Amino acid sequence: MFDYDYPLYRPPSEARSLIFQVTLGCSFNKCSYCNMYRSKEYSERPLEEIKSEIDLAARHMPGTTRIFLADGDALNLPTDTMIQILDYIRPRFPNLERISCYAMPQNILKKSPEELQKIYTAGLTMFYIGIESGSDIILKKVTKGATGQTIIKSCQKAKDAGYTISCMIILGLGGKTYSRQHIEDTAKVLSAAAPNYVGALTLHLEDGIRDEFLTKFKEPFLPIDDSEALSELELLVSKIEPSAEVVFRANHGSNAYPIGGTFPQDKQAMMEKISYLKSHPELCRPVGFRGF
Ligand code: SF4
Repeated sequence: MFDYDYPLYRPPSEARSLIFQVTLGCSFNKCSYCNMYRSKEYSERPLEEIKSEIDLAARHMPGTTRIFLADGDALNLPTDTMIQILDYIRPRFPNLERISCYAMPQNILKKSPEELQKIYTAGLTMFYIGIESGSDIILKKVTKGATGQTIIKSCQKAKDAGYTISCMIILGLGGKTYSRQHIEDTAKVLSAAAPNYVGALTLHLEDGIRDEFLTKFKEPFLPIDDSEALSELELLVSKIEPSAEVVFRANHGSNAYPIGGTFPQDKQAMMEKISYLKSHPELCRPVGFRGF
């Protein structure tokens, strides 16, 4: 329907959502494991262009229930611009249930509580936050531009303003060397932040980014294998103790095994499933696929 500026990404759970590109690229664009937007320079699209796409979509898909605002960190838009876009969207889609976007911890921390509240009231109610790890050492090695503390702060700030938050973490991001530290610190951050949803992926470096990742890691990177990824998952699930319910999913295609459940009530069942899978490696994904 529109001429999207590719590549275009959205979270798996937004597969059926209508997507408006309100920004192009990522305003940070430095995480060493991510080449989603390396081909684009960050920019904010002209409001009139966005409005004409919203009009077009409203004519063709008036029953839309979910909208995702792309690209990599739409929340970087000035608050007034974001509110103008949301105010334009809302009346044109009477069945709308949710508007969401990706957000970095820095995007959230840059907004005042009042700004976050205004944006929420205007209709953007969910953030997908790539936290990747809770370990400051790893976050620095992958040039994430965040620390465990800034991640916790940003999640709490967003939750205080009413947002639903979904966080992504990456198994294997510290390699073998930092495996334990990665998982223990990530469990601490997830327990403190208690996001509504957590998605666990396994590290998969695309060719265009591998050299940069290895250089920035500043020491030999020893990738974990599927069985170690499962051990990371086991340790992670055992250590997460959130103060509120957290829906946990490790069912992304990059993972060796699909695991899912809700903390705290499904923790034991998830532990048992992981333990069963560890003793049945034949249930692993097809031989030959490796995340790294
Ligand atoms: S992981 Fe997110 S913040 Fe980092 S470069 Fe990629 S899109 Fe930008």
